[in-house]
Amino acid sequence: MNPRDLLRSGMPSFSFEFFPPRTPAGERALWDALRRVEAMAPAFVSVTYGAGGSSRERTVGLTRRIAAETTLRPVAHLTAVGHSVTELRRVLGAYADAGVRDVLALRGDPPGDPRGPWVPHPRGLAHAHELVSLIRESGDFGIGVAAFPERHPRSPDWDSEIRHFVAKCRAGADYAITQMFFHVDDYLRLRDRVAAAGCATPIVPEIMPATDVRQIARFAELSGAVFPAALALRLEAARHRPADAHRIGVEYATAMAERLLAEGAPGLHYITLNRSSAALDIHRAVLAARAVLPVA
Ligand code: FAD
Repeated sequence: MNPRDLLRSGMPSFSFEFFPPRTPAGERALWDALRRVEAMAPAFVSVTYGAGGSSRERTVGLTRRIAAETTLRPVAHLTAVGHSVTELRRVLGAYADAGVRDVLALRGDPPGDPRGPWVPHPRGLAHAHELVSLIRESGDFGIGVAAFPERHPRSPDWDSEIRHFVAKCRAGADYAITQMFFHVDDYLRLRDRVAAAGCATPIVPEIMPATDVRQIARFAELSGAVFPAALALRLEAARHRPADAHRIGVEYATAMAERLLAEGAPGLHYITLNRSSAALDIHRAVLAARAVLPVA
């Protein structure tokens, strides 16, 4: 089933995010992780698009291989950064040629300094809703967009955040995937605000396994996510005991994931950082709690 239909079916959709590696060792780690994830038969796997379009060829190449060599359904991310509309159409053509039928449509951030001024390409697009419209016109793609439980860092207030989010959905998005977050209530508030605006687009929460406090603190700072102080302290204390740090991060994310599903989230999208073990440990615990899998 494609992500659009699955997310509207009422069955939870479980999916995983990867990025195109730069080195042969990274390539081996990625394929090891992909094969482990494949064994769990997820709804789809998504492949990120490097900041500023830097990974265009690698994202196209990786999604092509996933479509051709695995049973996984690839969702290719695409950003408007640094691309004219003509170039964006070419990337969409390359995705279609690679057998990719699903795209996550993103505006992207300024290359170099993600917090710097946003300057659209002179012959390009200024916001994600325009990219959604372009993809809709370009073929029969399933389209996802980004959602922000703690508000996009550039949004001045919640009213404009929700108005612009709903505009992306009305432009033709089938579903949304959130930015990482660490407090379930932030997701629930976003979902309720979107519903109150009359928008029923399913919003899939992104789950980040927080097992390395320094790395996660850096990601959280970039994304604007507030990292829980108590979790940071526990991870910091376990910094030289990787197995304990892994367990702490997996337990926290599993508790979040279970509550999100109990509150009616339509699925979970796990960040893997191209290493499957933490994401799969969370996923197995979630399935076990739902009695889909016997507890080992
Ligand atoms: P938009 O929806 O355009 O929103 C950006 C800002 O502009 C918001 O503040 C919004 O409220 C405002 N806005 C929107 N429309 C208008 C309008 N008409 N007028 C005025 N203001 C408006 N980045 C990458 O480079 N590569 C990736 O692969 C990638 N994957 C991601 C995956 C997920 C699940 C998420 C949540 C983010 C991802 N990002 C990625 C980051 C994303 O590109 C940035 O967060 C970016 O700043 C916002 O993208 P957007 O699509 O939400 O933009």
